[in-house]
Amino acid sequence: MDAKTAAWERFEEIRGDLVALSHRLHAHPELGFEEEKSAAWVAEALESAGFRVRRGVCDLPTAFIARAGSGPLHVAICAEYDALPGIGHACGHNIIAASAVGAAIAAAKVADEVGLTVSVMGTPAEEVGNASGKILLLERGAFEGVHASMMVHPAPFDMLTAKIIAASMFEVHYTGKESHASAFPELGLNAADALTVAQTSIGLLRQHIRSTDRVHGIVTKGGDAPNVVPAHTSAKYLIRSESLEQLDELRPRVHRCFEAGALATGTRVAITGGDKPYAEMHHDLGMAELYRTNSEALGRAFPNLGEWETRPTGSTDMGNVSRAVPSIHPMIGIDSLPAVNHQPEFAAHCVTAAADKALADGALAMAWTAIDMATNASVRARLAVG
Ligand SMILES: [Zn+2]
Ligand SMILES: [Zn+2]
Repeated sequence: MDAKTAAWERFEEIRGDLVALSHRLHAHPELGFEEEKSAAWVAEALESAGFRVRRGVCDLPTAFIARAGSGPLHVAICAEYDALPGIGHACGHNIIAASAVGAAIAAAKVADEVGLTVSVMGTPAEEVGNASGKILLLERGAFEGVHASMMVHPAPFDMLTAKIIAASMFEVHYTGKESHASAFPELGLNAADALTVAQTSIGLLRQHIRSTDRVHGIVTKGGDAPNVVPAHTSAKYLIRSESLEQLDELRPRVHRCFEAGALATGTRVAITGGDKPYAEMHHDLGMAELYRTNSEALGRAFPNLGEWETRPTGSTDMGNVSRAVPSIHPMIGIDSLPAVNHQPEFAAHCVTAAADKALADGALAMAWTAIDMATNASVRARLAVG
């Protein structure tokens, strides 16, 4: 039996358990850095399959590293398992986690035979937008010795190399002065007006930024009572650009809009966060082609999607991983249209038959891609495998 067939047979033994894991994660959504149950379930699944598991690595309680095999090529498969506030697993990270487990267990079956070490990186808090799990794991050395990394992410349809852009999330706090809004309004400094000026400035700025830039946010505190001049307001904003370098150009222009709010109203502004941004994704095209071939062998297709091929999608801290080691982040379709990521309707699609099929196809395509890489001398040479 060849290695890919052996990996497939191993996968079929655990397919039902993986679907159950995906559905269990989906039913218990946990926010970034609070994924205690989710991380525990994913780590347990790997431990019971014989992986060596280290929990709470790099001072991150909901991170882990699970490892099997001892071959010279070290492939790390990233598992995300955080959810979104209010709308649960509307980004389908339950599918990401279960497919990572499936890929790793299937590949581990033949790891020593083909010369592979396979790790699952339990990477918390992908949705937080700044100083997220993979960024901190990278900084703290978790990817040392890794030659290549991969994961699959659910989406409405399959996309091999989606345009994933850089992003930075920060918080804005205004401090003004309370006063009776009717009797003594002239004694107040209005921190809500500061936000209004900032948002108006950002609206005007949109005419003069790149069409691939994004600025979007929410007001997290707008005041306490309509008859008290708001003295404390806050907002969370995300800025995005095609690259970290372009993001560095956009950031001061957006910050000046917030400063304009303070200047106009006589309030003070403090901007926090945004210090550890998400990088744009650099897809390793050689790995992507192997993934495409394996995915097509499972009956999936990558038709030309027109403008979807070039328009910016979202952002992910897998971009930071891709700047450190060759990586892929294919989107795997769950046939959800018109529902798209970050909608409650998409969350509902993440436990359908199509979602369970995506989990299985993504797992096998990743396992087979890892096997292809381990058994191809030119790939090993390119990745400087010792
Ligand atoms: Zn998301
Ligand atoms: Zn996501």
